[in-house]
Amino acid sequence: MLQDQVRVRFAPSPTGPLHIGGVRTALYNYLFARRHGGKVIFRIEDTDSTRFVPGAEAYIIESFKWLGIDFDEGVSFGGDKGPYRQSERKEIYQKYVKMLLDKGCAYYAFDTPEELQKVRDEVKNFQYDASTRGQMRNSLTLPIEEVNRLIESGEQYVVRFKIEPGENVHVNDLIRGDVVINSSILDDKVLYKSADGLPTYHLANIVDDHLMEITHVIRGEEWLSSAPLHVLLYRAFGWESTMPQFAHLPLLLKPDGKGKLSKRDGDRLGFPVFPLEWHDPQSGAVSAGYRENGYFPEAVINFLALLGWNPGTEQELFTMDELIEQFDLSKCSKAGAKFDYLKGTWFNHEYILKKSDEEIAPEFLKILKENSIETTLERAQQVVGMMKNRVNFVKELWPLCKFFFVAPDSYDEKTVKKRWKEDSAATMRRLRDVLAGLEDFSLAHQEEVVMKWIEENGLHTGNVMNAFRLTLVGAGVGPHMFDISAFLGKEETLSRMERAINILG
Ligand code: GLU
Repeated sequence: MLQDQVRVRFAPSPTGPLHIGGVRTALYNYLFARRHGGKVIFRIEDTDSTRFVPGAEAYIIESFKWLGIDFDEGVSFGGDKGPYRQSERKEIYQKYVKMLLDKGCAYYAFDTPEELQKVRDEVKNFQYDASTRGQMRNSLTLPIEEVNRLIESGEQYVVRFKIEPGENVHVNDLIRGDVVINSSILDDKVLYKSADGLPTYHLANIVDDHLMEITHVIRGEEWLSSAPLHVLLYRAFGWESTMPQFAHLPLLLKPDGKGKLSKRDGDRLGFPVFPLEWHDPQSGAVSAGYRENGYFPEAVINFLALLGWNPGTEQELFTMDELIEQFDLSKCSKAGAKFDYLKGTWFNHEYILKKSDEEIAPEFLKILKENSIETTLERAQQVVGMMKNRVNFVKELWPLCKFFFVAPDSYDEKTVKKRWKEDSAATMRRLRDVLAGLEDFSLAHQEEVVMKWIEENGLHTGNVMNAFRLTLVGAGVGPHMFDISAFLGKEETLSRMERAINILG
């Protein structure tokens, strides 16, 4: 059984734009929490000041706003277990570092970077652990008076976790089962640095998960190797009984070939790896985002939800509510998930179809305005209705639909060659007269009259329609013919026909 109240967290480090893999992690946390009526906490892990990138935190918050992933507590969301930015929790961590020191689970180490480099150069595969700590400059080897003197004189030090060797450490992972590693391969990790008075990731992460009463740690596979250390830290603190359950999500893999998905794959194959466009504050470089590339947030969510999880049915299209209802960590795969970005565009197409024309029209109208087309929302909506099944993105409508708003100024050569026959001009003149006589220019009425006229005159429907299309569109493309002429209206239809007859002869 799950604990009374599920509490999960998404805890990014603000070191740049949020990678799409991080979005998936946040999504799974969100789905899991909502599924179990729990809470999602948004924590900023910014204890490594050297990697801090301005703007990253705001970018991450905006990304989730766009995607419709909402948090219950955390940076910018409030809550009673804050502050939720680790750089604002210095005193809290210092207290817990001291606790480990007092318990003998951690020790001071005074080795300078130069000293450490020297032993690394001398000893192959040097690791600071039970087998080597006895030869190093730390509170386990130095007399207590010397340790106190060094600290009081302001000598810089770190606090290291004292790992006992030779023990099999079990990580009980909801996706991977019992993962066992031997503590002998772990090093005495640095937990705290006096230089900036800040803890490292490991200590801050554990202390905060404990204080924020996190019940489940759902994160990327890259953190699995830290999990045994985290288990040992919980134990050192005496917090085993409230230790969260772990779930390490499968890696996102390259769309082609082997290995982890990287930004370079996106650049190489032309898909974004970030939710929103990112403007690097240092280099000024711009990286593409799903939002700016024209994806619907629902499509991105649906696509990511299925990268590493599937409900075990054929269903592919899910609303957020359906995902929440069906999400199940035990149905996540251990194996990495290929980042099939073409599937992402397929999802976007499905969402264009799913959305009403009314919903899509304003975005298309905006694009029309950008292309100096003055028209109404209603007309934009009509075109959306006729054409949306042909595109993956709303922005792809414009090149396909230009002819609805602008008369052709040239005629596609190949189509002319194939479709404009010797008698086409004469036939079009006659069709023009038929259409000119119509009071009611509705689709249905035009179709009825013209079809009857074709039949009575023994004309070839295909030839007539092909030529007619060429006069209105300038090419052999577009939806149903009378959809086009009805949309254009009588005056515009006749004038386009006139023009084509004159030019094509
Ligand atoms: N700050 C880590 C990150 O950037 C958090 C890892 C974790 O969830 O424990 O992903």
